[in-house]
Formats: sequence, C-alpha cells, structure tokens
Amino acid sequence: MTERYLYDLSEGDASMKPLLGGKGAGVAEMLRIGIPVPDAFTVTTTACVAAMNNDGQWPDGLWDDILAALDRLEQRTGRRLGDAERPLLVSVRSGAVQSMPGMMDTILNLGISDTSVVALGAESGNPRFAWDAYRRFIQMYGEVVETVPAHVYEDALAALKSDRGVQQDTDLTEQDLQQLVQTYLTLSREHMGEELPTDPKEQLRRSIDAVFRSWLNPRADVYRRANNISADLGTAVNVMQMVFGNRGDTSATGVCFTRNPATGAKELYGEFLVNAQGEDVVAGIRTPRPLAEMEQVLPAAYRQLLETMTKLEQHYGDMQDIEFTVEDETLYLLQTRNGKRTASASLKVARDLVAEGVIDEREALRRIEPAQLDQLLHPAIDPQHGKTPLTKGLNASPGAAVGTVVFDAVTAERRGKAGDPVVLVRWETTPDDIAGVIAAQGVLTAHGGMTSHAAVVARGMGKPCVAGASAIKIDALAKTLTIGDTVLGEGDSITLDGSTGEVFAGALDLVPPQVNEDFQAIVGWADKIRRMDVRANADNGEDAAKAREFGAQGIGLCRTEHMFMDETRLPAVRKMILADDEAAREAALAEILPMQQADFEAIFDAMSGLPVTIRLLDPPLHEFLPNLVDQALLVQRLELQNGDAAELAEAKALLGRINALTEQNPMLGTRGVRLALMFPEIAVMQVRAIARAALAVKGRGGDPHVEIMVPLVAFAQELQRMRELITETMAQELAAAGGAELPFTVGTMIELPRAAVVADQIAEFADFFSFGTNDLTQTGIGISRDDAEGAFLAAYVDADIVPANPFSSIDVDGVGGLVALGTERGRSVKPDLKVGVCGEHGGDPASINLFEKIGLSYVSCSPYRVPIARFAAAVAVLNQQDQQA
Ligand code: ADP
Ligand code: MG
Ligand code: MG
Repeated sequence: MTERYLYDLSEGDASMKPLLGGKGAGVAEMLRIGIPVPDAFTVTTTACVAAMNNDGQWPDGLWDDILAALDRLEQRTGRRLGDAERPLLVSVRSGAVQSMPGMMDTILNLGISDTSVVALGAESGNPRFAWDAYRRFIQMYGEVVETVPAHVYEDALAALKSDRGVQQDTDLTEQDLQQLVQTYLTLSREHMGEELPTDPKEQLRRSIDAVFRSWLNPRADVYRRANNISADLGTAVNVMQMVFGNRGDTSATGVCFTRNPATGAKELYGEFLVNAQGEDVVAGIRTPRPLAEMEQVLPAAYRQLLETMTKLEQHYGDMQDIEFTVEDETLYLLQTRNGKRTASASLKVARDLVAEGVIDEREALRRIEPAQLDQLLHPAIDPQHGKTPLTKGLNASPGAAVGTVVFDAVTAERRGKAGDPVVLVRWETTPDDIAGVIAAQGVLTAHGGMTSHAAVVARGMGKPCVAGASAIKIDALAKTLTIGDTVLGEGDSITLDGSTGEVFAGALDLVPPQVNEDFQAIVGWADKIRRMDVRANADNGEDAAKAREFGAQGIGLCRTEHMFMDETRLPAVRKMILADDEAAREAALAEILPMQQADFEAIFDAMSGLPVTIRLLDPPLHEFLPNLVDQALLVQRLELQNGDAAELAEAKALLGRINALTEQNPMLGTRGVRLALMFPEIAVMQVRAIARAALAVKGRGGDPHVEIMVPLVAFAQELQRMRELITETMAQELAAAGGAELPFTVGTMIELPRAAVVADQIAEFADFFSFGTNDLTQTGIGISRDDAEGAFLAAYVDADIVPANPFSSIDVDGVGGLVALGTERGRSVKPDLKVGVCGEHGGDPASINLFEKIGLSYVSCSPYRVPIARFAAAVAVLNQQDQQA
C-alpha cells in the first residue's frame, strides 16, 4: 500500500492533526506528554477522503489494516472485542482537522453483546451498569449507523420510565434495562427491516463507515460553510478503548475549560456528572454540577484534573477545552483542544498568557481571529434602559440580540435569511439547529449549561446566547413563550443580553461598542509588527476624526461626490450640470467651491500631519439629477394640467438634459477622469477648493498633506493631461495666495484591467497608485455588483464556483492577479511608487493577507474597520514569515 491510512495512538503527535484530526492528534499528544488517556488507533482523514472520492468505497486493504490494529489494541489491553470473559469495548469517534463540535457522529460502547454484557457486569460487580451500556450502544448505533429515528428509542425509554414511575434514567433497575434492550432490539429490527448485526466486528466496520459518511451530513455542511472549512478535508475516525464514567458513584464524566471561555478570566470553569457517560453532560439529560463540587466527591481525581489542566495549557500555550472521565477514581482525559471563546475572552486570554510568560506577543497575535475583533466592535444594550428583565438565564455568549421570537430552526433560517432579525427560542438546541442559529440574532434556551451545545456554538460564532433560562416555558406547538405573566408569541420582539443572561420583552436600544484595554494592547502589538500602513476612507471631518481615534494613519480615500449629494448643495450642483455654456457652469461652480473648501478644511484639520487622498469627482452626472422616468411623468402631468408655462419649460429642459446624460452602462460611461476631461471646470473647482482649504488649515498652524487622486484612468494620456491641469491650477492658487508653498502629489486609481496592464506607462505621471478593488472586481470579472449580489452571486458561492463573494473578499487569482501585475509594472519604472488599496477589501483580513504578499504600501478601509486592518496587517506579516521559514 502506498499510502498509510492507519496509526496506533503511540505513533501520533500534535503535528499530525491534518492526518489524525484534532481529536486523534490531541489524544496522541497527551499520551506523549504523560497524561492518562485510553488506548486507541486512528483511521486517517485521507482514508475518509479516499472513500468519499470513490463512491464510498474504502481504499483497498483498509479493513485488513483495521483488523490488524484492533488485534494490536486487544493485545495491549489484554481484552477482546465481544469477549465472554474480558470484553473490550471501544468508542468510534469522528474527528475533523478543525473542531466542529457535535456536527458529526460518535458511537460509544461498541463491543457489547449478549455475551459480553454478562462479563462486563461480573467484572465491574455492577450488572446494571453493563446493561445500561448495552442499551446506550443500541440507541447510538441504531441512530447513527442504521438511521433509526432517534425518537423511536427516546419514546421507548420515556414510556418505560413513566411505567416505572421514575424521573431519571439512573432510577431504572438492571431488570428494567434488560427489558429495554429487548425492546430496543425489536424496534431496531422493525425500522431496519433486518436484525441489528450482532457481530461486533461487523458493527465496527459499519460504524467507521457511518462516521466517514457523517462528514457529509447536512448540519456538518452548514457548519463548514459558516466557518469556511473546506469540504475536501474529511474526518478521521478514532477507535478508542472505553472508559466508564457510569460505573457507579466513584465514577464521573465532565467537560471543562482551563479559563472562563466567556470572559477569559483564569478561573475554574466546567461541569461534571457522577455516574454518567460522555454525552450526558452536553445532552442536557441531567443537569450537570459545577466542577468545583467535584472536589468533595472525588478529591484525588479532582486534584489530578487541575494539575493536568495547567500542564495542558502550558504545553499548548492556549486555553484548552477538555473532556474527561473518571472510572472508579482513576482520571482519563478524552479530548483536549483549543477552546472556542468569545472575542473579549480571546483577547484577555492572549494578553494574560503573554503576561504570564507562556507565549510571546507574536504567538498571541496568531491566536486571535480577526473576526473576533470585529465582534467587539459590535453594539451592546444601552445601559440606561431602566427595564426590568423578565428572567435571567446563563450568560452563555455575550453581546446584545434584538429580534422577534421564533420557535424552530427552520423558521429562524428562512426569516433570518430574508433579513428579519429573529431570536431563536428553544428548549435546547441540537446540532441540527445550526442553520437557524447562524441566521438568528441570538439564541435563548430553557435548558442546558455553559457547555451545552447552544452555548458552545454561539460563542464560537460570536452570537449572543442566554442558555438554561429555566423560568421560561415554551409551547412549541402553540408557539408561545411564557415567562411569569408575560406571554410572547412568534413575531413578538425580545431582547437578550448574552453578557448578563438577562432577557427583556420588546426591543431595547443598543449603544455602540467600547474598545477596551485588551483590545488596545493587542492592536498595539500588531502595530509593532505590521509593515503596511492603515488608512481610512472618510468623506468628512467627523469620520476623519473617528478614523484617527481608531489609529488610521491618514485618509486613503475621500470621495467628493458625497459632498455634492448633500440636499442643501444639490440645487447648485444641478444648476452646474444644467448650465448651457461654460460661463453659466463656472458661475454655478463658484457657488459650490466654498462648500467643498469647508469640507476639505474639516478633513485636513482632523488629519493634520497625515496624508489625505482626495479623489476628484467620480460618478456620472446623471446621478445628481432626478430619475428619468420620474421626470418624464412630471412633464406629462404638467402638460395635462396646462398650468404655469415657465414651470413646464423648466421641467422639459431638465428632462432633455437627463435624457442626454443617461447612459446604457453608466458604470462604464462618462465618469471618473472622462468626466473631468469633458468638463475640466469641475476638476479645476475641486483643485481650487483643495488648495484653499489646505492653505487655510496651514494658516492656522495645521499640517495638511495633500494627495490628489484621479479616478478611472485607463490611458496614460488621461493622467498626463489631468496632471497638467492640476499642477497649473495649484500654481495659480498658490500665486494668488502670494506665493504660498504647498507640497502635493498627484496619483491615480487603478480600477480598470487596462490600467493594471499598462501601469508602467501610467506610473510615468503618477506619484502614487490606489487600487479601487471594488470597481476592479466589477470590471475585472465583468460583473455589476448591484445586479450580481441580489442574483447569481449567492448561487455561485453556494455551488462553490467561487469560494466567497469577491466583493467582500478579494478574488485572489483574478483581481488579486491584476493588483499584483499593476504593482509590479508600476514599480518597474518607479521602484518607490507608493501603492495602496481603498475600498471594502482594505478591511478584509483575507484580502489584507494578499496585499501584504504583493507588497502594497497601505490599505484603506472604513473607520470602524481600522483596528481590524491594523491587526490583520500584522498577522499577514507573520504568515509571510511562516511561509518563508
Ligand atoms: P463529539 O465530537 O461530539 O464531542 P466525541 O467523540 O468527543 O464526540 O464523543 C462524545 C462523548 O463520548 C464525549 O463526551 C466523549 O468524552 C465520550 N467518549 C468518547 N470516547 C470515549 C471513550 N473511549 N470512553 C469514554 N467516553 C468516551
Ligand atoms: Mg468531544
Ligand atoms: Mg471606483
């Protein structure tokens, strides 16, 4: 066999995660560093991929390898699968490379049979436990492997409990469980149309196959899409000796985090259950107890657990999420992984680990996801609300959620995707609810703890969640949520505070986010590492000031058309457009000039000492005029009314002008530099306003750094002419101001493929380039954003034709290729050419990574994204260094 599809536990380590999956590699690494774990072997992710790519057919020889590995495991443990004396029981565990909590399947207690159940009972001195393991096995195996509906078993269990008059599973006797096993076997046969296989090896084969298949189940698919995990990776399968937390009162099972995953605080955080098996803690069948209470119940195992937690955290240099089981006072670790955490916890943990000397700043930066910083920039409930909460549950995932109540994931998904803010209210979420969770603003559950499914998934996604709000009553059929005297139905508004666990009726006001000390510290580390500058896109003084507060190192794009759109200015702008001759146009422009100047002054004031790139007017003129159809209707109405002749004439004139200016493809029409060359007076006015604003600011002690940018250049000639015009106008202004001095630069947007291709020619006349990647994406791919996003683009993303919306995250090969080409050609004639990017991509971490690789000088993004861009630019540098190492 050329490829190896199987590894014994002792052959693995943490570095083999791509092959062994996170779980397999994690357990192997624990073994390696001397932490007690059950013995196991792992079938690789590559085996799953091979099967996936071959209609589910396993690679040749895989089954033989598994049998051989099983044989070795039996040798090592001194037990045999299904044995009548010393039975080996195993779990068959899924394990993806990136953790996907609960999205795939795991089967426990495999190897139990009519013969081994007796042996297991005798050996443990606890036959009840053995029968409990048996019924659990049939339930899990039947559900996962033979696709028997879950409720079939659940109903039978519930019926038996009610028949016996007991509440808890643990109250059922050995005889009850024996009977339940028989019932389960009968029910399985009915649903399978054949006997449930009794040979444990056959069960093992089918179970491994089922775990392979679970990689492609719908909820795993949804989760992967939401988390950008490739569907090609496959899952590993871990076959692991069972250890039993359900062997009696000296046994237990639990889940814990080495720090609080909601706040990041270094404190005990976990839950456990005595006499229970793995899934019981998460599944919410019994309410777990806080981990601290384990000190009383199982003191030795508790102490050992705390030591192990510290050891693991030191070893991985990160907060761990741990599964453990105590079998008869002996501690076993079953899983460790970097714990999912909230954004604020993520920053706090990183900062604390650096302070504790566990990791350095660079390592800390790698630990933080840029998307998490984004979450921190999101709103919270206005603290001045003065409302009394209806109830309080667990503060499982922070942030505020406002929306209308929905009771099932399907409705949440449908309405959420349609743009309605909804809050998903459930007894407890299951992995099948994932699509609804993603589409909801937040999640409220009646049941389950801080490590319940809803809590874990919500934290990972930065979705506010209040879990275990036990005072709420949900009637899923009647679609009502009752809290005390308040009854909310589907469609009623509700507000969750995931940071406090409070639930409010109605929609509360939100306040903008606060950037805290951890945030500042971490972005500060990033500043020491990043190479690219980060600028902001801002069109007025207020935004410019905000951008500076967020750490922007200048303005990368000031759009002047927004200044034209202002209601109070539009009349003057229209007068300018409608002017019949140059003189009339100049007169109208003279009215606009002081307004523009005031705008620029505010920006130069806010950005004193830092560069400000002002783009000359870009959009086609018809955008400033009324809509063509509306105006035609107005003319028609005036004609019918037979009223004021002057009014009619004016409306007709405007209609004529709109008609003349209206284009088939305005995006590719008379705009940008083309407009400036057709109507140079406009550009001249703008340059005058810039010059006068800069001089005014300088006059009062400010330090304006003026950069004038020409949009939509395709030909070097265009820029050459504009450069002359700008330079001349500037010279006139400076002369008029008594020979004042004002350094300035002239550059261009590169937003057309032609411009990228002839960037060397264009660079002759440019002091800088700024890639307008939004238009470059439109013109480079040949799609109109407004038309595409509401139409085929989402389908393209769903069908994996494109990996992501190219307007949010740059199309690396295509549009990114044009950016690389333009940069290279531009710098071939001007090695020091300053090259930046403005537009949404400038704030997108994946795009920033590419821009670093290409060697751009700066990115520019919206003020609120500046901190993320600063961070992402540093991570991009680290990524580059990793690649070169
Ligand atoms: P998931 O990815 O859903 O967490 P796991 O493979 O981790 O699935 O298993 C589910 C539960 O069963 C966990 O609580 C785990 O600790 C427990 N479990 C898995 N294998 C064993 C085993 N060999 N012995 C005891 N408990 C196990
Ligand atoms: Mg697990
Ligand atoms: Mg543009």
